[in-house]
Amino acid sequence: MSIIIDDELCTGCGNCVDSCPFGAIELKNEKAKLLPNCNLCGACVEACPVEAISLERDEDTVEKIDLSQFKGVWVIAEHYKKRIHSVAFQLLGKGRELADALGVNLTFIILGNSFDEKLEDFSQYGMDEIIYVRSPILKDYYSDLYVKVISELIIENKPEIILIGATPTGRDFAPRVAKRLNAGLTADCTGLNINLETKNLLQTRPTFGGNIMATIRTPSSRPQMATVRPGIFKAPKKGEKKASIRKIDYSFEEKDSVSKIVKVINTSRTTVNLEDAKIIVAGGRGVGSKDNFKLIEELANVLGAELGGSRITVELNWLEPDRQIGQTGVTVSPKLYIACGISGAIQHIVGMENSNVIVAINKDPDAPIFNVAHYGIVGDLNEVIPILIKEFNNTNINKE
Ligand SMILES: Cc1cc2nc3c(=O)[nH]c(=O)nc-3n(C[C@H](O)[C@H](O)[C@H](O)COP(=O)(O)OP(=O)(O)OC[C@H]3O[C@@H](n4cnc5c(N)ncnc54)[C@H](O)[C@@H]3O)c2cc1C
Repeated sequence: MSIIIDDELCTGCGNCVDSCPFGAIELKNEKAKLLPNCNLCGACVEACPVEAISLERDEDTVEKIDLSQFKGVWVIAEHYKKRIHSVAFQLLGKGRELADALGVNLTFIILGNSFDEKLEDFSQYGMDEIIYVRSPILKDYYSDLYVKVISELIIENKPEIILIGATPTGRDFAPRVAKRLNAGLTADCTGLNINLETKNLLQTRPTFGGNIMATIRTPSSRPQMATVRPGIFKAPKKGEKKASIRKIDYSFEEKDSVSKIVKVINTSRTTVNLEDAKIIVAGGRGVGSKDNFKLIEELANVLGAELGGSRITVELNWLEPDRQIGQTGVTVSPKLYIACGISGAIQHIVGMENSNVIVAINKDPDAPIFNVAHYGIVGDLNEVIPILIKEFNNTNINKE
């Protein structure tokens, strides 16, 4: 790629100089000139009011591929201790929508060795096909073997879209597969849609510290790969439809991998499971102190809820880091989310806006949290929460 400046069109306005984040463009004799530290970011192209600057791709380096060969949506599952991660089922829900919009099949990919008995059960989650790659060694996650198997499957079957959980495992193998196949990958998507005209996948994710939502397309390469954090999409309900099942045996041995798994250690510090919680009571800076968090905890206990909080409460050491909800914490989608003394910053909202019912308690009637809340209580949480606790204690709550 290279930046081309058309001297005849350039008016010397200097917009490009101001726009360059690297100071890599200057005016010489009232014409824009590139400096050697240009990193081809393209900011000057956007800034030029007379379209005198263009970013040109070197045609020789861009391999043109026939996009029409690629068909189908794939969801790649991961597992730990013989259980498929819940994000895989959530992706099946979104994957079905995308596949229906494109009129193609939805395929569920599992690499493992202990799922033969469970495939019939999985097959009722709305996919058209399950591809089950079996090998005893795949009971554990081997980064290089996953990359090898998945890349080979993609080359052979040519899916157009691949969805992967943005978990530590997914974040490890997804970019390696994308690099191997020269495919586009968008990490940590919060929205996925199809442009019905171009059939491209529209991959939306927060950027610039969560202040902007960017929608990314991959128009010229396939497959279009996206990772999605747990809790963003809803898992489909089990239905009647059954998928076809294809089993492929791989005869891997330990020596086929550059790594050797000696022992799998669970390093999770707590048993907090916000991602699967049905009810969450979350506190923010408005709670006032670590001591006052006992009030939030009491409300959570009465409701059989998990306790969560905003990033500030973690930074103030009022709450353990595992309980942080938001862009740099956990993404949740419970049936009920009660936000107490949380203002509703975008970085918090992106982590909880998919909750079924959101209740906000805040003394500021203009707090942005009320824009996403289904029910709002304007008041001091120190007065409101004791009333709620009393009421809930007097009511026979079905905590399911
Ligand atoms: C890159 C980046 C990533 C981030 N990631 C996250 C993230 O993952 N999660 C996250 O939460 N934040 C995140 N943040 C921080 C975020 O921008 C906000 O600063 C934070 O969410 C605010 O927390 P808060 O709502 O608890 O506090 P505040 O914004 O201070 O809000 C406190 C609220 O409490 C209300 N209040 C005060 N007293 C009472 C009372 N007695 N009764 C009722 N209401 C009361 C106030 O009216 C106010 O609305 C991130 C920021 C950046 C830049």
